[in-house]
Amino acid sequence: MNACQSCATILLNPYYCHFCESPAANVAAEVVTDARDRDLGTEANMRALALWYQLGGVLAGLPALAGLLSLWFGESYQPSASRDLGVIKLGLLALAVAQFVIGHYLRQFSEGGRIAAWLGEIAAVVYIAVLIANAGERVTLIVIAFMGLALRIAVFFFLFSRAASRLCTAQYHALVARTPYLKTPSIRQSGFFKAFIIMMMLAFLVPLLA
Ligand SMILES: [Zn+2]
Repeated sequence: MNACQSCATILLNPYYCHFCESPAANVAAEVVTDARDRDLGTEANMRALALWYQLGGVLAGLPALAGLLSLWFGESYQPSASRDLGVIKLGLLALAVAQFVIGHYLRQFSEGGRIAAWLGEIAAVVYIAVLIANAGERVTLIVIAFMGLALRIAVFFFLFSRAASRLCTAQYHALVARTPYLKTPSIRQSGFFKAFIIMMMLAFLVPLLA
């Protein structure tokens, strides 16, 4: 970890301190502007989100695929009764694949990926709201769902923010390409990453408590 020599703030960006707005010592003048313009914190958030989407795609996709295969090859196959269930599982599989693909494009700071994820967050908020409406008296489930709702709303506003949309411009892609000495920080630097880990653990608890 680097600390700013002027104000001692811990720096994500070893070339520039955004807190006291000064470059680190011994940084070439032509590097200062580019180093200042790289938004490493937002990059870490975007990559944490990308991982979250891809992991979510895998975790949702595998059971859907397993369900589909057992439906087709299982012994209880009945053309009429199994068809509707098959369509549902196929739909779930398609959603999981879409999630995975969105994560791939988020990692590349693609504008299409950002918009698709933004729509995905709206869908997630609606889904959780329905879940809460149908939760009845299951207080633990409701509390966890509200935490999930808060996180998804935070992600929604993040994707909508000026900082996130700036990452997805051609100018920013060019900036990243000409500043290879500035590495995107580990996603562990992202607050989203920590929140996702907590939500993931809670999500595994839901079936036990509900
Ligand atoms: Zn500083």
